[in-house]
Amino acid sequence: MTTFCEIGLSQPILRAVSKMGFEEMTPIQEQTIPLAMQERDVIGQAQTGTGKTAAFGIPLIEKMDPEDETIQSLVITPTRELAIQVAEELNKIGQFKGIRALPIYGGQDIRVQIRALKNRPKIIVATPGRLLDHIQRRTIRLHQIKIVTLDEADEMLNMGFIEDIETILREVPNERQTLLFSATMPKPIQNLAQQFMKNPVMISIKAKEVTVPDTEQVYMEVPEKQKFDVLCRLLDIDSPNLAIIFGRTKRRVDELSEALSIRGYSAEGIHGDLTQAKRDSVLRHFREGTTEILVATDVAARGLDIPGVTHVYNFDIPQDPESYVHRVGRTGRAGQSGIATTFVTPREIEHLKLIEQLIKRKIVRKPVPTLIEAMRGQQHIAMEKLLQTVGKEDTHPYKKLAEELLEETDSVSLLSAALKLLTKEPDMTPVNITAEAPLRSKKSRSKPKKPSGSRSASHRKREGKFYKKSKYK
Ligand code: ADP
Ligand code: MG
Repeated sequence: MTTFCEIGLSQPILRAVSKMGFEEMTPIQEQTIPLAMQERDVIGQAQTGTGKTAAFGIPLIEKMDPEDETIQSLVITPTRELAIQVAEELNKIGQFKGIRALPIYGGQDIRVQIRALKNRPKIIVATPGRLLDHIQRRTIRLHQIKIVTLDEADEMLNMGFIEDIETILREVPNERQTLLFSATMPKPIQNLAQQFMKNPVMISIKAKEVTVPDTEQVYMEVPEKQKFDVLCRLLDIDSPNLAIIFGRTKRRVDELSEALSIRGYSAEGIHGDLTQAKRDSVLRHFREGTTEILVATDVAARGLDIPGVTHVYNFDIPQDPESYVHRVGRTGRAGQSGIATTFVTPREIEHLKLIEQLIKRKIVRKPVPTLIEAMRGQQHIAMEKLLQTVGKEDTHPYKKLAEELLEETDSVSLLSAALKLLTKEPDMTPVNITAEAPLRSKKSRSKPKKPSGSRSASHRKREGKFYKKSKYK
């Protein structure tokens, strides 16, 4: 492993990287940063959570001229959350060089963005639709762009953004450098690269397993109707620090987050139909840990990097094997360990096999936990609380009271009562979760396989207006 100090980065960048806590480079960074600094076009493929943002962010900012007042660099990302997150990371990398990045995305008042653009950001991190809007209004001009980066290219493909990206790339001067990063490299992305990149070097970091190795992956066979009760039991047993629960549809996400709240869990949902303000606040609560459980659709959670997520639950098995990889990638980031549990209804077992084939890894079957086990989990937590209080807190003021109590009752009965009070007993409040039809595996479908564009259409439909394609067709 090489450290960042060994590759000839300038002082301001080194200082920033060290302040961010990075020492050694990740494999994708090690291989792509030197090439990108030599102004080569680079394609970088590596699994989620491997530091692709800094892999393009560091050379990008290293190459930029702090004196030049124009927009020198453009990063295109599939979702608003990613645009914000990538801009934040670029701002960290550029903090000592005086390079600022501005996120530009749909859903925010365009006048706010036009005002922010007057502050002359040197990097724009944009989602395709809104960027096209700005190009048409001439509020963003791309004629001075020297480096273009396509981030999470595979997801842009899934969301049907390829044509928009082609339109955008045609607006950027030809004598630019182009970087492309993606977790997977399907054919249409390779075609895009061929068309718009000059002699690109392809760096592919082959993980032994496609998914994050530190993540334990298990599945449980659960009938649709029992999923919610099983989920509650698991949450009681696992008592996750931060957890993400994936649901297949927006309705699913709404119903799940509401049902969890009714049963006393700290949960909020996120999907494409919520207002931007709501989405921001949900994510903020989750990052801060005020909300412990985030319920999300695939696209809403794609690429989000939230440290401390210990558990991922696939309430519904994902449609695409790639989505599985991305979902599981939300936990066990940057070397931490995590666990991903997938619910599979009896008719979806075939689909699970397809996912196993793609990730070249067996997902271990685990029995559904019983109510008793859930109870024990909570009792254990209550016991820990008691023991910790004995160890850490000053219980002196309560001693006299305790002695008085012991005169009336024996110690075992007293302690049992205290434990009972501290234990969260299983909450069986009835909730309303609409049943979803099981996924059929692609193999068993009677219709022939549709061309790759078809998935994006259903994707957009599922995510409603959030991912409406731009009107520049
Ligand atoms: P990807 O885009 O490949 O999914 P990210 O760029 O979001 O991954 O990075 C995942 C996490 O790893 C982030 O929290 C990032 O700050 C951290 N990270 C990136 N590079 C390094 C590094 N060299 N050392 C330590 N942490 C890193
Ligand atoms: Mg990324």
